[in-house]
Amino acid sequence: MELSYQTLKVTHQAREAGEMRAEARRKNLLILILHYLTQEGYIDAANALEQETKQGLRRFEVCDNVDLETILTEYESYYFVKFQKYPKIIRKAIETEENKMPRNGKSRRVVNDTSQNLPRIPQHRPQSKTTSGKTLEPKHPNKDNSKQETDNTASAEIPDFGLNISGITKSMGCENAQPRRVRLLKPLSAFIGMNSEMRELAAVVSRDIYLQNPNIKWNDIIGLDAAKQLVKEAVVYPIRYPQLFTGILSPWKGLLLYGPPGTGKTLLAKAVATECKTTFFNISASTIVSKWRGDSEKLVRVLFELARYHAPSTIFLDELESVMSQRGTSLGGEHEGSLRMKTELLMQMDGLARSEDLVFVLAASNLPWELDYAMLRRLEKRILVDLPSKEARQAMIRHWLPAVSNSGGIELHAELEYGLLGQETEGYSGSDIKLVCKEAAMRPVRKIFNALENLQSGNSNLHAIRLDTVTTEDFLDVMAHTKPSVKNLIQKYSAWQSDYESV
Ligand code: ADP
Repeated sequence: MELSYQTLKVTHQAREAGEMRAEARRKNLLILILHYLTQEGYIDAANALEQETKQGLRRFEVCDNVDLETILTEYESYYFVKFQKYPKIIRKAIETEENKMPRNGKSRRVVNDTSQNLPRIPQHRPQSKTTSGKTLEPKHPNKDNSKQETDNTASAEIPDFGLNISGITKSMGCENAQPRRVRLLKPLSAFIGMNSEMRELAAVVSRDIYLQNPNIKWNDIIGLDAAKQLVKEAVVYPIRYPQLFTGILSPWKGLLLYGPPGTGKTLLAKAVATECKTTFFNISASTIVSKWRGDSEKLVRVLFELARYHAPSTIFLDELESVMSQRGTSLGGEHEGSLRMKTELLMQMDGLARSEDLVFVLAASNLPWELDYAMLRRLEKRILVDLPSKEARQAMIRHWLPAVSNSGGIELHAELEYGLLGQETEGYSGSDIKLVCKEAAMRPVRKIFNALENLQSGNSNLHAIRLDTVTTEDFLDVMAHTKPSVKNLIQKYSAWQSDYESV
């Protein structure tokens, strides 16, 4: 059949109009997805979508009678009519060794475990008009097509529409190209609804959730073997082996680490955050003590509700005495707001004890005798994190001042009688010892500053410089000027331990 020029022109115009409609449909869908992500709190994903699509999507507002599911269904129907297959709205995964590994002869898409709790755009969509009563589960009229698609689920096959919504998959945790170091949290919208006051308070508390792994391993903590073991038993194992911790062995809900400052209490908490994959709330007085009347009490409530929402969670209350000192003991009487905050904290702890929620309170205090008794009762397990033993002190000095170390390309040598120094440093805390080591290492460095300053700029070759060796005398000399910070309180800790420690 011969086509006239006129027919060709009309066909061409019709195709152009069709493509414009397709483009408009695609854009509508992107605008709705952006709106959905923003509304649900997937801010990073929304930003990524906006940037990667380069369509200025934020310029558009979504009418309130339009919803994502309807548009998605419509888009699918349209796509099906045009291509006889359903679109896949996914991002092409970057090939890595891990996702190249075959499983049952097929390539597989590894889903990061942090994404498991996250809500997703529903997979089972409502029925569309065009499918006349049948569900819109991906079906493949063309068998070859179906094979091709199941064989490579990770590849987007929408060449002409380019619905490349990388931001969603990436931020929702389906992307495994780069190992994620930042923790993903569920969006807050499902937790607080539309209450703006609660939203603000939840945002304040959420700032104290560790998103980055603090990267402190148990082995980084020198000594403290008993404390490490007890913390593992109380916090780590119940999450790892829940089947063992039932009935009489049901896990503790609260643990207090107490002892002199600088002995590693915060380090222990950071090791918990590193080792257990729980949501870790690092809370200090500044988070929950609010100058606004009534807010502290609400902050405490929001803190515990958030912890339940993001469970399993660990709430670390650092310097507990500044939040939970004995009630009614402050000079001039206690502020009513502060009393209410304490009562709320006690009530929340009671709530935890009664519940099955996987929320655990880890508290630290340098001044346990100042703590409120009711709070102490609720922190069932109390562990003294004592000054380091002789062996631990020796190991610390060896760790911070080894025979040879390298600092910025310059070798530092030390010739120390570690045994003697371990003995001499009795009463020093871990952080005191670190300070002495630093000061001792500074001595030979200090000697070369003049020489460095006199070197002509541009030809200062640091590698040519040899530092004096740090000696036992240097160390002892520094010690003579750096006294241990807590020696006189040790009796008090021991007395308190015999009265209150639970074993
Ligand atoms: P606190 O008991 O006051 O919470 P930290 O845990 O913050 O003390 O310790 C302060 C610093 O002292 C740590 O960052 C670490 O460098 C050092 N330190 C203290 N105790 C130890 C230890 N047992 N092992 C390794 N480093 C320690």
